[in-house]
Amino acid sequence: MIRLKDVEMEYDNGTQAIRGITLTIEDGEFIFLVGPSGAGKSTIIKLLTGEVEPTRGRVMINGFSVSNITDKQLPMMRRTVGVIFQDFRLIEKKTVYDNLAFVMRAVGMGEKELRKRIPYVLKLVGLDEKASHFPTELSGGEQQRVAIARALVNNPTTIIADEPTGNLDPDRSLELMRLLVKINTLGTTVVVVTHEKDLVDRFEKRVITIDGGRIINDSVGRYVGGHIHGKA
Ligand code: ADP
Repeated sequence: MIRLKDVEMEYDNGTQAIRGITLTIEDGEFIFLVGPSGAGKSTIIKLLTGEVEPTRGRVMINGFSVSNITDKQLPMMRRTVGVIFQDFRLIEKKTVYDNLAFVMRAVGMGEKELRKRIPYVLKLVGLDEKASHFPTELSGGEQQRVAIARALVNNPTTIIADEPTGNLDPDRSLELMRLLVKINTLGTTVVVVTHEKDLVDRFEKRVITIDGGRIINDSVGRYVGGHIHGKA
């Protein structure tokens, strides 16, 4: 479970990015986080990955309290959250298999576990035939699915996707969103940051709208167009 309680976040230059957010995301939920540019979405992601600490309030992530986390606990907390970015961020000199192997070895997994887990997650994202390919030999949609497989490979509780369809065409975007929904139905909590109204409207999911560092709407269903004055 993820819980933000009265969270405020001010950057060193005095910008008040988050102005009081209280939010609970239960295990197994699928959430769209939407809002105009500058609303505070990226800051929320940074709070959820432990990259920044709140100036006020509490952030609880999958059993860890970010404010008083120890140096030893921080990597354990981060391991519970898999992140996917708009620009994929794959290692180009490594094959698909080795991109996944790299993150598994980084947390101390043995070769036997790698040989079992990697084919499973590649099959889940529909790329089991591409294990020995390099990222540059794949389409944008395929590269993003490798990024999803990599985020999943250490079996996180939560997946956070930051504008995951930003570099994909509409068909691939829909396909990718369906894949994230499938991963959610298999038990992973999924948080998707997006400004793609058409996509959000195709899924009956919880939509949290942020503006000016506050939650201005939190409801199931549609992206409330009238509340958005950004890229939507
Ligand atoms: P979004 O992701 O919704 O576009 P951000 O979380 O990136 O919004 O930004 C929220 C506010 O915080 C904006 O006013 C932005 O300019 C500011 N901001 C973001 N990152 C920093 C930073 N590293 N230092 C200072 N201000 C920042």
